[in-house]
Amino acid sequence: MLNEEKALVVFSGGQDSTTCLFWALERFKEVETVTFDYHQRHSQEIEVAEGIAKELGVKNTVLDLSLLNQLSANALTRSDIAIEQKDRELPSTFVPGRNHLFLSFAGVMAKSMGAKHIVTGVCETDFSGYPDCRDVFIKSLNVTLNLAMDDTFVIDTPLMWLNKKETWALADELGALDFVREKTLTCYNGILADGCGECPACELRKNGLDDYLNEKVNG
Ligand SMILES: [Zn+2]
Repeated sequence: MLNEEKALVVFSGGQDSTTCLFWALERFKEVETVTFDYHQRHSQEIEVAEGIAKELGVKNTVLDLSLLNQLSANALTRSDIAIEQKDRELPSTFVPGRNHLFLSFAGVMAKSMGAKHIVTGVCETDFSGYPDCRDVFIKSLNVTLNLAMDDTFVIDTPLMWLNKKETWALADELGALDFVREKTLTCYNGILADGCGECPACELRKNGLDDYLNEKVNG
């Protein structure tokens, strides 16, 4: 039997998954996190995730998914590939099927922990074209996991329909705005908090934060 009060959060130490972690901590009695090590471009991502989990008193498990590098070459895992996005194309950070794999492994882990809820920060709003971030995919995978393990998991996606501004608003609602702002790593160049300010991830994060703070001040 799965425990309805237990959740596993897919956790990278970034803005989105940290906000999801706070969201889960508010809702579920028992929360654990899982971080995937696929030899990402900035290895400090793992350390940041471990540090945040420790600070919040959450058990974090790091799973080795370095085989992702054997499957596909891309800018997130290879420092010799530039981060860029051309119009109407997937960005060079795209790892095909990455979320599919992450969530499938998380599903097996949730089964062994007896956790009913799997929480992920995927989002369709600021859609950069990752097909396995779409709501329709998550619903399909939820059915697949339930059939694969003959169980009744729920994949929760609190950020699915939020833009970056609304994700900052959610962090604030959860009392975690400063925490998320100061302790998470989103930057493709591996710089904590506000980041390098120049990469696409920093730009998205900063624009959302500026919009949110402006709205908060000006009403
Ligand atoms: Zn950056």
